[in-house]
Amino acid sequence: MKLWEGLEQDLNYNAMVSQRGILNLIHSDAQRDAFTRRGNAMILNGADADLLSTEIIQKRYPFLNVSNARFPIKGGLAQHRGGTVRHDAVAWGYARGADQMGVDIIQNCEVTGFRIKGGECLGVETSRGYVAGGKIAACVAGSSGRLMGKANMRLPIESHVLQAFVSEGLKPVLPGVITFGAGHFYCSQSDKGGLVFGGDLDGYNSYAQRGNLPVVEDVCEGAMAIFPMLGRVRLLRMWGGIMDMSMDGSPIIDRTHIEGLYFNGGWCYGGFKATPASGWCYAHLLATDAPHEFAKAYRFDRFEKGLMIDEKGVGNNPQLH
Ligand SMILES: Cc1cc2nc3c(=O)[nH]c(=O)nc-3n(C[C@H](O)[C@H](O)[C@H](O)COP(=O)(O)OP(=O)(O)OC[C@H]3O[C@@H](n4cnc5c(N)ncnc54)[C@H](O)[C@@H]3O)c2cc1C
Repeated sequence: MKLWEGLEQDLNYNAMVSQRGILNLIHSDAQRDAFTRRGNAMILNGADADLLSTEIIQKRYPFLNVSNARFPIKGGLAQHRGGTVRHDAVAWGYARGADQMGVDIIQNCEVTGFRIKGGECLGVETSRGYVAGGKIAACVAGSSGRLMGKANMRLPIESHVLQAFVSEGLKPVLPGVITFGAGHFYCSQSDKGGLVFGGDLDGYNSYAQRGNLPVVEDVCEGAMAIFPMLGRVRLLRMWGGIMDMSMDGSPIIDRTHIEGLYFNGGWCYGGFKATPASGWCYAHLLATDAPHEFAKAYRFDRFEKGLMIDEKGVGNNPQLH
């Protein structure tokens, strides 16, 4: 969070960081217990969390269908410093910042293979020729499996499609980010007025960058369950992207068994919000050859050793992501 808060000043670039707050809605007693636990964990780790009553939610968000619904709202967990950021602006800001620090950015240049000799990675073969390097850092999100396959590595990652949706532009209706707890649905409003929302993965392994209609229906049902006022809003566009789903829902930031080859991936559907922290920890690993204190658990060997990670407590079980 703190890295996001200083990002625009660090890069001297308007990334449209907007701390408009995020509210996770609660719909059952069990969920209240789980969210209370989550909120306490957040506070213990130095983040903010605020458990809101139904009355406060109704007052702050009068458009929410609080009681006359299939899943009445029983409260919510708010993180007031959370919010939204414009994703392209983040990429442009980082690119410009890196360029100004002397990094060569070569566009339209695909890595087609790794040159590995005696267990050591010496460089990458690309569509524009060979590039040698002392340390090679892979960070290609949804393409992780395909790329690392070129180094004969099989990752504990599955590739899935996730869709995102944008409605026609509306006057300001949503003050922050809201998530529905009885299904999988999240929504915010962009500065251009479109409602930006999404939900579940399509649920099958694929590299196709398009989604299917059952998920469109499911996501829109989630919207209608809490925002009946949106019933007549029209969908403007939607798209599907590839998610690098790790087996336990947590990322991997680690050295590989090949000397000089490093890997960062497995961010599932939450990799964007982690961008500054992910880069920070990866840079630490590359510079020192030791994991950053915050990323000590995010190693390949947890799948081999069956290690649990505290943050979600789901361990290395496939399909629990
Ligand atoms: C529809 C959708 C909605 C999402 N919503 C959210 C959200 O609300 N919040 C959130 O936190 N996260 C979200 N995510 C996840 C988030 O977008 C990703 O985790 C994040 O963008 C990954 O960033 P990255 O820099 O690691 O990878 P990317 O931004 O994917 O960049 C990887 C780059 O590697 C390049 N590349 C791939 N293969 C090669 C190769 N062989 N050679 C050279 N270059 C290569 C690609 O062209 C690409 O430019 C969403 C994802 C999708 C698809």
